[in-house]
Amino acid sequence: MVTIRKAREALKLYFGYEQFRPMQEQIIDGVLQGKDVVVLMPTGGGKSVCFQVPAIVMPGICVVISPLIALMKDQVEALLANGIPAAYINSSQSADQQYQIENQCLEGKLKLLYVSPEKLLSSGFLSFLKRIKVSLFAVDEAHCISAWGHDFRPEYTQLKAIKQQFPSVPVIALTATADKLTQKDIQEQLYLRNPEVYVASFDRPNINLMVKPGRDRFNKITEFLNRHHNQPGIIYCLSRKGVEALANKLKANGYSATYYHAGMSPNQRAKAQEDFLRDNVQIVCATIAFGMGIDKSNVRWVIHYNLPKNIEGYYQEIGRAGRDGAKSDALLFYSFADVMNMRNMLQENQSRETQTELQLVKLERMQQFAEASACRRRILLQYFGETMRKDCGNCDICRNPPVRFDGTLLAQKALSAIARTQEQVNMGLLVDVLRGARTSQVMQHGFDRIKTYGAGREVSTMDWNRYLHQLLNEGYMEMAYDQGYTLKLTEHSNQVLFEGRKVQLVKFEDVKQEEPAVKAR
Ligand code: ADP
Ligand code: ZN
Repeated sequence: MVTIRKAREALKLYFGYEQFRPMQEQIIDGVLQGKDVVVLMPTGGGKSVCFQVPAIVMPGICVVISPLIALMKDQVEALLANGIPAAYINSSQSADQQYQIENQCLEGKLKLLYVSPEKLLSSGFLSFLKRIKVSLFAVDEAHCISAWGHDFRPEYTQLKAIKQQFPSVPVIALTATADKLTQKDIQEQLYLRNPEVYVASFDRPNINLMVKPGRDRFNKITEFLNRHHNQPGIIYCLSRKGVEALANKLKANGYSATYYHAGMSPNQRAKAQEDFLRDNVQIVCATIAFGMGIDKSNVRWVIHYNLPKNIEGYYQEIGRAGRDGAKSDALLFYSFADVMNMRNMLQENQSRETQTELQLVKLERMQQFAEASACRRRILLQYFGETMRKDCGNCDICRNPPVRFDGTLLAQKALSAIARTQEQVNMGLLVDVLRGARTSQVMQHGFDRIKTYGAGREVSTMDWNRYLHQLLNEGYMEMAYDQGYTLKLTEHSNQVLFEGRKVQLVKFEDVKQEEPAVKAR
């Protein structure tokens, strides 16, 4: 068997690094022992090394499944530049090109072969793989397998064929999305055998998190830019039109800006990207199409001109700031009009594939993050299933904390109602139960007979919604996207219910704002 010592030598020889990062070493050790492994690590954490180094030292070829042809190409070029024999094969190539690469595999000349899921599952490809020695399957961007995630790709669900056809070849699945549901989906749908799961911390403590009301945002942006003289940054906008308009307005005001969106020609896009990477231009105004696979470590700030659709996207986008570890800023503009806009868009695009309800719930979580009155980093990390021990000290809420009151009784009422309804209610129904509403759903389930029915009558529906989101944000309950958005109790809720743990809540009226709050609802 290949040893970890050999892997360390390969790391030095091919990548020039002295040592593995702590988790990489454990992961690679597991892979070399033939175990299935799941890796949840933020972008920039060093996931690629976790399969590239084993690929080099194990006999045979590592097959890498990757959803984006552009990324495949970049990775293969980087490997070749380091002297590692690698290639990619996908349907954009001619039959002849594909044939040549297959020959290289048969002759044992490659260590890594990148394929798209479509290609992997196309007829005859799996039987071709049986004719070569596959050392390892690496499923990159593995969150694409989960219908509850933000980037679902139906073809990923067919990847179970890997384990069915190659039961003795180890599989490593990697993603930068860490919520529990995704993790569970990855393990189940890939049929992984008793996998080792590695979850790195997703915290990016050097990024300062800020939310500001959306009113008058252009002036707020220029003020911000004047404090970030010459520092490279990205402004994300919702629409292509918005992107162009903002870039032009900034230029007209003397700033160095360009724009990027998927409606531009490949040449125009490449130019904008190059200009930004080489610091020829300070600011890039972009849609979310910008950023995938962009390796620029000194992005000092990210602004969201519009509210992102969900927290996964938001976190990925702000994560492009401060990769070098130096202090960076993330500024989000929030206006209720943006939420309404987005909601209408989602509802207009309604179809079976678009999972409209799921997207609306995720948008609601995003909105509640923007309106939140607890440490923003705590909320983000909690969303991905990571509980922080203390507040971060590097967000607007930590710097300017709101006044809290003892909300233990309110929390107990809500949590006990969840328990008494067997954790089968979603937020809307829970509020009805707490307020003693006589809706048909309440009556149908006989919830009017449970002890907490009407126990929270004195609190308005809107306030209950805010309190429940605070409890959700702070980990006192969880929302099961895959079970009708029902609310579930957690370890923390049990401490509140049974062990006298106190809960501090924020009254919405008490939230301190630098400016008058944007009128909500
Ligand atoms: P991810 O795929 O998780 O986004 P990458 O694999 O692209 O991350 O790695 C991010 C950066 O960290 C790359 O520049 C990579 O070369 C570097 N890196 C990875 N492992 C190590 C290591 N053990 N020591 C130093 N740098 C590393
Ligand atoms: Zn904080």
